[in-house]
Amino acid sequence: MLQMYLSTMEDVFKQDLVVELKGRLQKAKLVVITAHRSPDGDAIGSALALQHLLACMDVSSQVVMPDGYPDFLNWLPGQEGVQFHDTDPERCEAILLGADVVFCLDYNAPSRAGDLGFSVATAASQAETYVVVIDHHQQPEDFADLLLSDPSTGSTAELVYRLSLAWDMAEDIHADMASCLYCGLITDTGSFRFPSVTPQTHAMAGHLLGTGMDHSKVHSLIYDACRLDQIRLTSYALGQKLQVFPEYNSAIVSLSLEELERFNAQKGDTEGLVNRALSIEGIRFAAFVKEDVDRVKMSLRSTGSFSVREVAATHFNGGGHHNAAGGACPGESLDSVVSRLIGLLPSYASQLQDEE
Ligand code: 5GP
Ligand code: MN
Repeated sequence: MLQMYLSTMEDVFKQDLVVELKGRLQKAKLVVITAHRSPDGDAIGSALALQHLLACMDVSSQVVMPDGYPDFLNWLPGQEGVQFHDTDPERCEAILLGADVVFCLDYNAPSRAGDLGFSVATAASQAETYVVVIDHHQQPEDFADLLLSDPSTGSTAELVYRLSLAWDMAEDIHADMASCLYCGLITDTGSFRFPSVTPQTHAMAGHLLGTGMDHSKVHSLIYDACRLDQIRLTSYALGQKLQVFPEYNSAIVSLSLEELERFNAQKGDTEGLVNRALSIEGIRFAAFVKEDVDRVKMSLRSTGSFSVREVAATHFNGGGHHNAAGGACPGESLDSVVSRLIGLLPSYASQLQDEE
């Protein structure tokens, strides 16, 4: 099975570049690992997995996140050492600008790292800082010294795993590292449901389980730790705020700041909502639109050939993947963003028709 990985790895992970990177890391004084704003399970899981991997070759590193992650990810082995840019910007910027190597995991443009992205861009412009992007989003911006990108791969965690194989470190993967990788794997593949899942994905999962990690516990920690307020918010959102447009096979849920506050919403509470809307029979396009303090944020999902990445990139300053994307509208009201979205549906009518 591992051989299967190695044979598909060639084009993304050119062996000479990967070996050169290992040598560079072993000489580095400060290695920093970053991920995107509002880190999800893949962002934090792959970042901590890479930190564990580097530790296996006696390379210490610092994980710096733009901001915090939801409570259901607050158990990952190694997470206690993470620094957050939004709570201590000066310290995080100093760490980043003093680094020899900066990893950018699970994002394809510095702007995706929020305010931390300015330091990432500065680091990328410094000749003495080597910037490595490991990512699976389409059309990466040109800011890395080394780009390890494969948009056909379901998660960045899978790419970090492939890097461990390229470094001939399969035997080093221990249960803690495996839990971090497994977290990224299941959160970005909808627990092995999405079309991006391949035989290699399952081979990787098999290897991870073989390390002795507790996959059932990981699943429970991520998916079975809902607060009562969260369940009530979900009920309210689906019961009262779901708009279905059968003629366009589309569904939209939106929540205002007032509504979020009414249910004492915490980071991550609304994470699964868009998928619930997509799970309605016949629905091919689902959107969740949320009012934030400084912007309106949206999550878009689709099935089949309809590209939500195109919708997000064309109309909502966003991007992502073909079937899972997002965007942000600073300075626009929630009502205006929702109206714009509804107003766009007729223009996508033919693409939203049922597929054979
Ligand atoms: P989610 O809806 O889970 O937040 O994000 C789904 C996908 O869209 C992820 O791959 C994420 O990286 C991408 N995405 C979410 N929001 C944005 C955004 O504002 N800009 C861009 N470029 N991508 C986004
Ligand atoms: Mn990802």
